[in-house]
Amino acid sequence: LLAPSGAVGQTIFAEMTVLANRTGAINLGQGFPDVDGPDYVKEAAKAAIDAGRNQYAPGDGVPELRRAVAEHQHRHYGLDVDPDTEVLVATGATEALTAAILALTGPGDEVITLEPFYDSHAAAIAMAGATHVPVPLTADLRLDAAALRAAATDRTRLILVNTPHNPTGTVLTRAELEDVAAVARERDTVVLTDEVYEHLVYDDATHVPMATLPGMAERTLTVSSSGKTFSLTGWKVGWLHGPAELVTAVRTVKQFMTYTSGSAFQPAIALALADDETPRALAASLAARRDLLREGLEAAGFDVVVPRGTYFVVADGAAHVARLGLEDGHDLCLRLPELAGVVGVPVSAFCRQGSTAARALRSRVRFTFVKRPEVLRDAVGRLATLG
Ligand code: PMP
Ligand code: GLN
Repeated sequence: LLAPSGAVGQTIFAEMTVLANRTGAINLGQGFPDVDGPDYVKEAAKAAIDAGRNQYAPGDGVPELRRAVAEHQHRHYGLDVDPDTEVLVATGATEALTAAILALTGPGDEVITLEPFYDSHAAAIAMAGATHVPVPLTADLRLDAAALRAAATDRTRLILVNTPHNPTGTVLTRAELEDVAAVARERDTVVLTDEVYEHLVYDDATHVPMATLPGMAERTLTVSSSGKTFSLTGWKVGWLHGPAELVTAVRTVKQFMTYTSGSAFQPAIALALADDETPRALAASLAARRDLLREGLEAAGFDVVVPRGTYFVVADGAAHVARLGLEDGHDLCLRLPELAGVVGVPVSAFCRQGSTAARALRSRVRFTFVKRPEVLRDAVGRLATLG
């Protein structure tokens, strides 16, 4: 009733997790790990609770976490970030993204995203009353630079990129990001970049932060989160950094969303952010798990695009959709628990309803591989019965 557009409804992740719980199917839909992050980080949160860090944290985030974010960005990417004026801790990447979109856009403004897009991006644009302009990826799930350029107008206020990209697993190359940056400079727009999977890249892929491109730090807001990197998705500790005046605008909105959260979790994540080994080990083990799931999906008759990042694989279930006389990938996802005891998420849920991209990707299903190998082997065995 209150939805400003069709973009705000129940999230597909909640819907598919309910389906998995109801049917007892293996949940490869919602992306969350089945092994928690490191014990020493959990112990640090417990110690923070015992030390009395149980009241409101500063609205910007605790100083040690803001410093840890700045140090992380410097150590990994050579970025110079002022922890006092250019970092804002948020309730996950979700709040950082939504606060940024609400702060910087409103009715009459256009916000470009790639399509498919992460669902909260579209919901936040709708809540801001701005106009969402999705730019479909190419058939091989890469940036379509010409389409991006054609989509930009005088009203483009924000270009929202996401790399590594959910749901496709595409890791944008430096050249692709240069194409985005060129459009942003020409149109004098801000780039909001969702880099929550920054450490989860495989093979020869490397993560290139938008803010490291020439002339981009001054117009880029970078969002990330500890949820993916440290397998602590429920703690909802995320952050954003960028030029002080943009961060100030986002902080103004954020004050009235949550003001602050996670007092005891923030110092624990500050500690974790100094640890490069945990994300490195996670990425190495995820690469092997990706291969396990990919091979299983291929053996089960799905056509797979190999992801170079994230913990998702997009598989084309067209053969099964046709064989079973189903409508599309969404239909297949609704039937998968009963047919194979597995839950996935239709890629169309990351597209605007009825769009060109939604049609092109109509039989694709996203599966997560951030599950223990034995769970994935079980899932692969079940999928093999699909025929
Ligand atoms: N952006 C993307 C691309 C995501 O996949 C997710 C969630 N997994 C988020 C943002 C939200 O992150 P958080 O849980 O830190 O809010
Ligand atoms: N980001 C996770 C995914 O893409 C889910 C987060 C959520 O449940 N909103 O699966």
